[in-house]
Formats: sequence, structure tokens, C-alpha cells
Amino acid sequence: MEKELKNHILQGEYCANLFQYNRLLTREINIGGSLMGGYNPIRIQSMTTTDTMDTQATVAQTIRLVESGCDYVRITAPSLKEAENLGLIKKELRARGYNVPLIADIHFTPNAAEMAARLIEKVRVNPGNYADKKKFENLNYTASDYAAELERIYQKFSPLVKICKEYGTAMRIGTNHGSLSDRIMSHYGDTPRGMVESAMEFIRICEDLNFYNLCISMKASNTQVMVEAYRLLVKTMHNEGMNYPLHLGVTEAGDGEDGRIKSAVGIGTLLADGLGDTIRVSLTEDPEFEAPVAKALADRYESLSQNKIKTVAPSISNPFQYYSPYQFSRRVSQEVLNIGSKHVPVVVYPLHADSLVDPHVLAPAGYNYQSLLDKFNISDMACDYIYFGDQIPSFNCPGGLGQIYNYNTWKRLAVKKQCFPLMQISELHSADPAAFAQAYFVTGNEGDWESLDWSILNEFAILVVSTTYEPNVQWQRSFALNLMQQGINCPIIWQRSYEDVEDEALGIKAAADFGSLLTDGLGDGIWIGADNLKAKSKLTSLAFGILQATRLRISKTEYISCPSCGRTLFDLQETTQYIRSRTDHLKGIKIAIMGCIVNGPGEMADADYGYVGTGPGKITLYRGKTVVKKNVDSTFALDELIHIIQEDGNWIETT
Ligand code: SF4
Repeated sequence: MEKELKNHILQGEYCANLFQYNRLLTREINIGGSLMGGYNPIRIQSMTTTDTMDTQATVAQTIRLVESGCDYVRITAPSLKEAENLGLIKKELRARGYNVPLIADIHFTPNAAEMAARLIEKVRVNPGNYADKKKFENLNYTASDYAAELERIYQKFSPLVKICKEYGTAMRIGTNHGSLSDRIMSHYGDTPRGMVESAMEFIRICEDLNFYNLCISMKASNTQVMVEAYRLLVKTMHNEGMNYPLHLGVTEAGDGEDGRIKSAVGIGTLLADGLGDTIRVSLTEDPEFEAPVAKALADRYESLSQNKIKTVAPSISNPFQYYSPYQFSRRVSQEVLNIGSKHVPVVVYPLHADSLVDPHVLAPAGYNYQSLLDKFNISDMACDYIYFGDQIPSFNCPGGLGQIYNYNTWKRLAVKKQCFPLMQISELHSADPAAFAQAYFVTGNEGDWESLDWSILNEFAILVVSTTYEPNVQWQRSFALNLMQQGINCPIIWQRSYEDVEDEALGIKAAADFGSLLTDGLGDGIWIGADNLKAKSKLTSLAFGILQATRLRISKTEYISCPSCGRTLFDLQETTQYIRSRTDHLKGIKIAIMGCIVNGPGEMADADYGYVGTGPGKITLYRGKTVVKKNVDSTFALDELIHIIQEDGNWIETT
């Protein structure tokens, strides 16, 4: 198997194959008899939110998590007493017939980790805080200082490794972007490289002690950072002859549709790359809601690996000269209208209506017609273009809205201002030259592009590239890289239709499909089709949600809220909703809502403001990483937070 592992990984530098889906084969590890990695299914897990000292509540919630689809359940152990209680929780679960492997979540407390490792099946340690305290200090190290620090970490960490070895306990080395140690931050910066090195230091200690029952995670709230860190980790491990399984997750993803989209963009991008052996989707909701989302993501790729992929895309020689999987940069494209070049990716909304007489029909696209004023109110999430197909509206469309018509219908339009043709490749070769004198959209599926004479296209062409392939990313990636190789700079709008997908599953699938391309800087717009979708406005919120999750186009406030756990000091769901109700009009502002002061400040990542529980009924408020007000009574904390935002000139009054 070792030889097979090595051959498997070599083809894509960080994945099995850049141009054909293939799951990366990793080392198989044993978590209390449940095997993970290797050829095993992608395992699903979640985490309890109860007080770990409340044995009955934790047992009951663990059972609910198992019944929601979890293969493993993680429980926080902030101190020795909670770690000891994990033994009781396990005993009670076994007595009730539940053999689910339990994982202790450890931050800062080696003694709790060492206790838990004797009692339950797996321990998660955070290398950012296992042996280091975080003070947000910039430290200067000489090479010998740094070596001395590594020796100190070795001394602190090796007892746990030895216990895990002795008891057959598995371990996750779980790096979080937000909680890198001051030492790592000072040396490598707040970067994917720093995240990888943080884990590698601990992995090397494990290997030095001949302990290999490990999995690794690189979580971040920023999906680009998270994706880049996992890829860099795989490449780095491979260079050192390692192949540990990966636990995937996006931290502090938030709740509702935003949380699901963000998770699907980050996790789905990596799954589409063939990476990932276990998943946790972190939502600020009851944890029972997490496993179905994780399972929906995993099942899609599980069925691919079982059926053997038939999609074979042409490979590109030396693809990394055109893009980097480890550092975001956007494909260079020419500007056509407001598409391509430096413009944010556009959103195309496909309108299917019985008739186009009533202007209210544009509401799901973000244009709300006000009859009394006879004008459109344009929302922050209004699409840039509407595809009307062969229908022609009998009302005047809003001024800035682009209208796309099928070519033959476009030809019949009396007034063509803001109206653009969509041409099939077969129509291009005999098209009216007038069509080429302004922006035009050219569309095709996978095979269609092979018949295109590319020299026909001029500087006004915008490509609408569709695929039905599963997964989509390998073919679309090769399409974009092929254009780069040939020096063709037409903007690309990715298009995909989901006709047979339920509303809930649509968001998860589309976020993974489009997110995996946009995260790599490929594409200038998205066009999601779903004729059977009941709530049509969901298409626009989904498209803008995907762009927000990839941080390519910000159209709303971003909430970085932790999923809560046994440390949480207030009702996170209720508080998040309350904060959202008064701040969700602050486009572009990132607000972190964190349940505890122990991990909260470290995990807030790049939030602009932080609302962190410090004690019962007490909140500490942050501007970035700086404390602004300590221990504010929770009754007034939101008002105080708004006051800070106002002081910064970032507040907008609602009308
Ligand atoms: S930040 Fe939230 S999830 Fe993380 S340890 Fe604190 S309460 Fe738990």
C-alpha cells in the first residue's frame, strides 16, 4: 500500500490528479475500531454543545448526534475534571448500546489531554495553544532560540504522544488559522505556510516517537486560506514522506444559508480535489443540523469514487505556471462591459416566467418594482444580468440591468440598448456581423468548444461555459487553463443547471461547484439554473452567498460565529440572531460572535469587530484583535458594539 500511496499522490503535486477526480489515498488510522483514511468512507463528525460536566445532557446530545449521522462525536474538555468525566460519559453511552468513538477537544491543557487519552478513543490538540500561550506579541527569535522552543514543545507534547501510543488512542493535530501561536506568527506570519508549519512541528514529534495514528486539520474561517492551507499541507507532508488523513472544516462558518454555503465552498473545494477523510461542518445551530450537511457533501464524492469517474479532461503541461493552488490570484481576462478584468464576478439570473407583463416578475432577481413610484428598488443582491431567453418584457427594465436574449430573439429587438445576444457555437459561424460589434455571449457545453474556430471571437466575446460533469471542477479548470495556455483572455461565466435537486441540496451542491473554481481565481461570473426551485429569489441569494464566501464580492455583513460548545457563556444562536437583526445592513463589515474568552479572541480570525463572552452575563468587545470594552453587561453589549462601529464611521442608519 505504501508504494500505491506514493504513486497516487505524485500526479497533482497536492492531489491525486488535477484534471480527473480521484480521491487521494491516505494512511488508514484506527479510532476505537473505526477505520478512517485509506479506502474507508469519508467519516462524519460533530461536537456537543452541552456542559461536559452534565453527563446526562452530554450523553443525550451525543446520541442525537449519532442518530443524525455522526460517525464520531467530539466533546470539549477544558480542564482535568471534564476530561475525567469523559470516562463516565463513555461508560453511560456504552451501557445504552452506543459505541461511537469519542474525541476530546483540548485547548491549553496538556493534563486534560493526557487524562482523556487514557479514557476515550481520540484526542484533538491545537498546536497553536498546546504548549504556547497567546498574547498577540511579535517575537524575535534567533535560530537557536527557535530550536530551544521546539525542544520545549517536544518536552511538553511527548508525554501525550506516549500515552496515545500505549492506549491505542488516535490524535488529531488541529491547526486553526485564528489561533496560531505568537512564535509561529512571528516566524511565518498569519499565513497558510504558518498553519502548515504549526502542524508539521507536532507531526514530526509524533513520528520521532513512532506514533502514526494521526489525522490533521487546517481550519480557517476564510475559505481561501483554509483551502490553500490544506493543499500546502498535503504537498509538505508528501515531500516528507507522510500521508496522514485529513479532517476538513471551515471554522466559525455561521448559521443558516450563509453557514452552509461557506462550509460547502471550503469543504466542497477540497473534496472535489479528492482531499478529505472526515468532515465537520460547524454551524451556529443545534449540532444535530451539522451531520446532514456534511453527509450531503461527502455522499456526492463517495458515489463518484464508487462509480469510477469517466470524465477525462486533457491535461495541461506545467499547469502551475498559469495559477497557484496555494495563493489566490485571479485569471487575467479582458474587460467587456462590467465583466472580467478587475470587475467583481457578475451574477446572471435566468428568468423563467409565464409572462413578462408585470415588472414585479423581476423581484427574485433583486429588482423590486414600486408601483406607486413606478420605479425599481435595487437590492444589495440584485443580479447584474437577466437571461430572458426568447421572452421579451413589455415593461422597461431598470437602467443598469443587462438583458441577455437568445440570438434570434435579440435580432428582432427594436431597441438593443443594454440587450446582448447569447449565441450557440453553431450560430457563431453564420452570425450577422452586427452581433460582433458589441458585447455578446457565447455558450457551449463540454464538447461544443472543440468545434469552435477561436479566431472568430473578438474583444467583445464573453464565454458562458456549462458542464454536466460530476464533479465539474476538473473539466472547467482544464478549460480555463487551456485558454490561458493559448493566450485567450475572454471573460468566463460559469453556468450550471440543477433541475433535479431539492432546495436544500441545491445550495450545498452549487456552492461546492462554483466555489471550487472561484477559489482558484478562475471565472468572472456565475449563472446558476434551477427551473424547479420553488423560491426563485434563492438563486440570487445563493449566487451572492457563494461570491461572499469566496470573498470575491461582498454584498452583506459577514458573521464569524462559533458553533458553541461546553465552554459557551451565552446562547449563541439567540445572540447571533439579535446582533444580526440590528447590523445586517452593514455591507462588508465582519463581526465575530464568540462564546468564550479562552478561544474566542484567537479564533476571530480577521473580523473587524468581536463580541466575546467573558463570564456569565459579561461580554468583551473588540476592534480587530484589540479589546475596546471589557466585561460589559450583556444587556447593553450590542448597543456598545454599535457605538464602537459608529465611532469608526462604519455605521449606516437604516431608513
Ligand atoms: S470559541 Fe465557541 S466553540 Fe470555540 S471554545 Fe469558545 S465557546 Fe467553544
